[in-house]
Amino acid sequence: MSCLECKSDSPGAIRFRLLEVHTLHIRDFDGEKIIQALGEFQNYEICTACALEGARVFLYPAKLILSKCFAFFMLILAGMILTLLLTVNDSWPGLEGLFPVKVIGPLAVIVGLSGIFANVREILRVRESVSKMNHDEALHFSAYRLIIENAPKKYNDNDITYIPVSKETQRMSPSQLAEKYNLLSAVAVKAHKLIEEEKINE
Ligand SMILES: [Zn+2]
Repeated sequence: MSCLECKSDSPGAIRFRLLEVHTLHIRDFDGEKIIQALGEFQNYEICTACALEGARVFLYPAKLILSKCFAFFMLILAGMILTLLLTVNDSWPGLEGLFPVKVIGPLAVIVGLSGIFANVREILRVRESVSKMNHDEALHFSAYRLIIENAPKKYNDNDITYIPVSKETQRMSPSQLAEKYNLLSAVAVKAHKLIEEEKINE
């Protein structure tokens, strides 16, 4: 098996076994319904170099913040330019009396600011928790994040999410699994049984 991030074969890679959950969203007149089923177990791994780099990005997140927030900066800029143009020249032909047009600029600025705020808050929250981990925990955490980022997210129209097989998930009840991994209760019962059986096979 090779690293899911850099595709290299390296000894000492961090391995994960994950159970796929396939979810299909159906929208009809009554609102949204979901159909959910368990997929296969998948084994993925991340090399230690990639895991280390991932942990470093979490601890020194300036570039991450820039890349996550770039689109929101552009939105704010566009909103400010639009507001300025409409303020300077509010007698553009066809715009007189069009109240909503004037709202678009400030609205874009507000959406941009709240997007930046939410992203930065989440990135700093992760930084805080990674900084409290020991070396191995930080590598494990970053490797898991890289796997979730790189593993397939779609199968035809189904969304794919994953439940890791770990000591933590093996201790969870079906209702705890349902809550943490957004499972329907019947699916959570099956997932609980399969993950429990993994413990016996170890
Ligand atoms: Zn790698």
